[in-house]
Amino acid sequence: IKREDIRNVAIIAHVDHGKTTLVDQLLRQSGVFRANQEVQERVMDSNDIERERGITILSKNTAVYYKDTKINIIDTPGHADFGGEVERVLKMVDGVILVVDAFEGAMPQTKFVLKKALELDLHVIVCINKIDRPEARPDEVIDEVLELLMDLDASDEQLDCPFLYASAKAGHAVLDLNDTPENMEPLFETILKYIPAPEGDPEAGTQVLISTIDYNEYVGRIGVGKVDNGKIAVNQEVMLMNHHDPSKKKKVKISKLYEFEGLNKVEVQEAGIGSIVAISGIPEIHIGDTLCDVENPEPIPFQKISEPTIAMHFMVNDSPLAGQEGKFVTSRHLRERLMRELNTDVSLRVEDTDSPDCFKVSGRGELHLSVLIENMRREGYEFAVSKAEVLYKEDERGKLLEPMELAYIDVPEEFSGTVIQKMSERKGSLQGMSTGSDGSTRLEFEIPARGLIGFRGEFMTSTKGTGILNTSFDDYAPYKGDIQYRKQGSLIAFEAGESVTYGLFAAQERGTLFIGPGERVYAGMVIGQNGKAEDIELNVCKTKHLTNTRSSSADDALKLTPPKVLSLEQALEFIDNDELLEITPTSLRIRKKILD
Ligand code: GDP
Repeated sequence: IKREDIRNVAIIAHVDHGKTTLVDQLLRQSGVFRANQEVQERVMDSNDIERERGITILSKNTAVYYKDTKINIIDTPGHADFGGEVERVLKMVDGVILVVDAFEGAMPQTKFVLKKALELDLHVIVCINKIDRPEARPDEVIDEVLELLMDLDASDEQLDCPFLYASAKAGHAVLDLNDTPENMEPLFETILKYIPAPEGDPEAGTQVLISTIDYNEYVGRIGVGKVDNGKIAVNQEVMLMNHHDPSKKKKVKISKLYEFEGLNKVEVQEAGIGSIVAISGIPEIHIGDTLCDVENPEPIPFQKISEPTIAMHFMVNDSPLAGQEGKFVTSRHLRERLMRELNTDVSLRVEDTDSPDCFKVSGRGELHLSVLIENMRREGYEFAVSKAEVLYKEDERGKLLEPMELAYIDVPEEFSGTVIQKMSERKGSLQGMSTGSDGSTRLEFEIPARGLIGFRGEFMTSTKGTGILNTSFDDYAPYKGDIQYRKQGSLIAFEAGESVTYGLFAAQERGTLFIGPGERVYAGMVIGQNGKAEDIELNVCKTKHLTNTRSSSADDALKLTPPKVLSLEQALEFIDNDELLEITPTSLRIRKKILD
């Protein structure tokens, strides 16, 4: 059965193309806001870091009414997937509104999310926004969007999508540029007509898949999801289950149930199929859980949440150099804040370490962790972080596995050569290359996660800020060691095996190289002149302490870490035969070209 009185849509837009303004307008015009009541600026994404970075991390729900229909509008995260988040959010909806600036045109950043939407067979409404801009070029932009949809393998039905011309700022949209703009009604009408009403079986057992988690200090964890089948009601007993974790099975009673109204949640007694609901009072509720019928529980299958691949240590900062007075500085503060983050972020792990002042925080890539770090610093937390390290695994036979990522890169053509070179230095292998509708080059690589560490900044610099980098976890694959050299000043920094960490610091004296915290590293010595020699002596050692690599001298590093012999077998894994010069009980000498 179809719920004709509900529509569930997600909104996809590049940052600044007008998503917030558009939703504001829909809210105003749907009558959710009383006349003359000022709508808060930036209702959709209040998180300013997201804005600066051009990504929206928290998915938010808004609901508006048009005539007798409730339209749930769900914000989509605009970034590379942090653990299946995009797909989860899109699973709640039957269609998407793609908002595109009438001047800037389709931006590659939205491709990732749009692609997922198309793969999930969602209907698309294209809203060409900012049509009031003097330099607006709507017809060209429509062509660009169509090309983008074709690039992304949209179905014929998806290609046959409605286009609207809007000025979210002025509060109107039209289906034809010759129409006289009045208000947002054409958009509301298009949503009703074009986005299918949600379907489900109201007589079947309850199934509510939890797609996102909100957290509120007062009520704790709040699960948000769509009622797929049956109904859900206050005082109802349901079975909390998880498709990927059969051991999780618990009978719980619904104590508080909400639906979205405008920007708020309002308590309701009952909700039926197609409704997007929020449920509080179940502390053990997690993303991916299904609230099921007690008699006949059937959890909904779900894309597995990808595991963390990168870890960093967060430490209480006792350095006198830290300068500013932070508000929250004790390890208890730090721990509490990190634990709180776990409530809403499923792809994050936080572990205690041997030191009470240090926590191991693991996530889905450097960007994921750096957003958390920035958020915390803005809130006033003072802490130090270690460099990112990759999380390795072993297979059944004990062989080392490392996480591989897929990197999707869009760059203006003139930078593609540089990017390909940089990616291959980092062990990326090119999987595909195409020219996008906007003339940019799209590159797809498979690359070890370790190769991406520290890459984002370098990438932005070398593409003069014009490149776009999205990554998503691919799989764990057998570890393949490698050694790379990079010139740094007159010295050579090299990166070897597990210790690959970009941004190594070449020490001042003697060309000794080292890296920091708790990783196995290869300390090497350049033999020869001006760092140009091609022989390098390697000593394998393991650093024990977190040292400030900026201030430690090379000698300090070596003192901390007595060199250890690398077994021949281990060594050979990393070195090609023709590079090998000599093996002694404590070192190997290899020859390798210096990469510029
Ligand atoms: P978001 O990042 O996609 O949420 O974009 P915002 O809604 O915050 O809009 C970004 C900027 O574009 C703001 O300065 C808006 O005032 C402006 N803007 C939004 N819609 C329109 C429009 O239809 N016409 C014009 N000229 N500016 C708009």
